[in-house]
Amino acid sequence: MLPSPALDSLHSIQRSAPTEPGIAATCKRQAVPFTCDAQPAELRIAGFTPLTTVDFPGELAAVVFCQGCPWQCRYCHNAHLLADEGREPIGWDQIRAFLEQRRGLLDGVVFSGGEPTVQGELATAMAEVKALGFKVGLHTGGPAPERLARLLPWLDWVGLDIKALPEDYPAITGVAGSGERAWASLHQLLAAGVALEVRTTLMPGWRFAEDLRPLMDGLAAAGVTRYVLQAMRAATARDPAIAVAGDVSPPAAAIDYGTARFADFGVRGA
Ligand code: SF4
Repeated sequence: MLPSPALDSLHSIQRSAPTEPGIAATCKRQAVPFTCDAQPAELRIAGFTPLTTVDFPGELAAVVFCQGCPWQCRYCHNAHLLADEGREPIGWDQIRAFLEQRRGLLDGVVFSGGEPTVQGELATAMAEVKALGFKVGLHTGGPAPERLARLLPWLDWVGLDIKALPEDYPAITGVAGSGERAWASLHQLLAAGVALEVRTTLMPGWRFAEDLRPLMDGLAAAGVTRYVLQAMRAATARDPAIAVAGDVSPPAAAIDYGTARFADFGVRGA
């Protein structure tokens, strides 16, 4: 067992962590503490879930929520996860000690966020997770394809947010060139043959023929087989201007098209 203060810390953070798959990958703090070009040397952890059955398909897993993201998506809705509420950040050594006690009980560990791939010590943490005998999962938006390439040897499964066609990314993330980086990450993962789920969160005002169908065509042409459309939740969206639009669920035409276009298609949060 961990010393009780450490376990208390883990559990207190668990209570504020999201539990819905995919949505867990779309959390951030509003302030952007660093960029992909200036990674902190340590693993900055904002939360930890000791057990989940939904964030790593088919596996019993723990989830490590990494802090910060270089993008500022308008619908990002988990800023509260990373807010400073007077708690000390959880240390990787605490989580490693916890995992050592869970060998044979858990199948895997998922790194989520925030955006894990901008963390300077992520590869080291993944290597340690592997050495403990766990599978490694990753939730990412793909902002750092160069860094993602260095993680490939450790990855057993990835949930990748593809938010739009590349040219439409800046209107969502607020960052020029973000779409090209995300799609480069997609092509990299497909080429590597990593088990992959691609998911898209719906933006208010998107139309099937003009927005969703071209996106799904692009993903299918790239080789995506597992694809999920995620509803946007207005109440917790970072940008009040899109929050007033209300929740956005996939239109029926997009569900029909996705079912026909992808071998494994799903809808989440609708
Ligand atoms: S990529 Fe966007 S949705 Fe995901 S954590 Fe960063 S800002 Fe939030």
